Amino acid sequence: MKAAILGATGLVGQRFIQLLNDHEWFEISALTGSERSEGSQYGKAVNWRIETPLKREIAELTVQPTDPKKVDADIVFSALPAEEALKTEEDFASEGFAVVSNASAHRMDSDVPLMNPEANFNHLSIIDEQRRKRKWDGALVTNPNCTTAVLTLPLKPILTQFGLRSVVMSSMQAASGAGYPGVASLDMIDNIIPFIKGEEEKVQAETQKILGDPGRSAGFKVSASCHRVAVIEGHTEAVFVETEKPSSPEEVAQSMEEFTAEPQKRKLPSAPAHPVVVRNEQDRPQPRFDRGEGNGMSVVVGRIRSDPVFSGVKYVALGSNTIRGAAGCAVLIAESMKSLGYL
Ligand code: NAP
Repeated sequence: MKAAILGATGLVGQRFIQLLNDHEWFEISALTGSERSEGSQYGKAVNWRIETPLKREIAELTVQPTDPKKVDADIVFSALPAEEALKTEEDFASEGFAVVSNASAHRMDSDVPLMNPEANFNHLSIIDEQRRKRKWDGALVTNPNCTTAVLTLPLKPILTQFGLRSVVMSSMQAASGAGYPGVASLDMIDNIIPFIKGEEEKVQAETQKILGDPGRSAGFKVSASCHRVAVIEGHTEAVFVETEKPSSPEEVAQSMEEFTAEPQKRKLPSAPAHPVVVRNEQDRPQPRFDRGEGNGMSVVVGRIRSDPVFSGVKYVALGSNTIRGAAGCAVLIAESMKSLGYL
């Protein structure tokens, strides 16, 4: 299937190109950018920041305008800024394209699935309601904010087995989460920034949407405190969970280790064998060592212990913000849509 990437010159756009190189089902057919790069060769327009080399055949593609009339594709991956995504993604979907978006613009729309596939595969059925309501053949599906993607995977087995009453999360988020060039180095080095605009509200609302039933948010409370730290890639989260039923650290670890879902059953190409990997060393997970687990698609959890305040557990979770938290999650969503016949 032909795949287009909107906002292909940005950090998430570059991750899409890396993940779609040699993909079993999808082949890159179009790359778009802003007026800054339109008409240029991709290799000249991009400041390639990914560790694997850019292939020559991709570098030689011409960057197209972000316009549904100029793009030829069966699936469209959007890595546009939210303000640009708001109208543009609807324009693509109304022209019949299936759009999977990283942008926040439509995540909380009631007829738009917000997907972290192992956590809420059944939410894809919302596409049927969207097509009826918006009278289009296309589709608009979103993936979560990067912090929410890392948070919701290990929460899912806890929710299923023990129920959730409340979740408190304090994040240590990588610089790449702010795109490129992102936060100025003089602000970032030797520092921690204790504010990321809109992030805490997104994490709180998106977690409840993903872990609820389609059309109905989950009932448990979520409180997030978000911070930017001097790490290049990989968001780390200290998570404190109050469960409905009693839960020991050993039982929680087992529920996470045994957790698999529809993407694994359907053997989707980007589905990691273990969505959640539990480490038992006292000093893991760490971004430098653990962000590549499951090709960046697994969340690594460690330090699971009883919580003396909440009736439940606390632990540390870590995941790649540009793979599980962005492009990788979007590719897995597209694979899920294809496997259900939505593409
Ligand atoms: P970025 O590095 O700033 O890249 C932005 C991209 O959008 C560039 O390709 C840029 O093209 C393009 N663009 C900007 N204005 C445009 C316009 N008016 N028309 C068409 N294209 C335009 O940002 P990013 O980190 O890749 O993030 C992309 C999206 O994913 C954002 O919505 C972000 O919130 C979301 N997201 C990011 C992460 C992460 O970890 N970074 C995680 C989850 C979600 P030019 O280069 O041609 O100007």
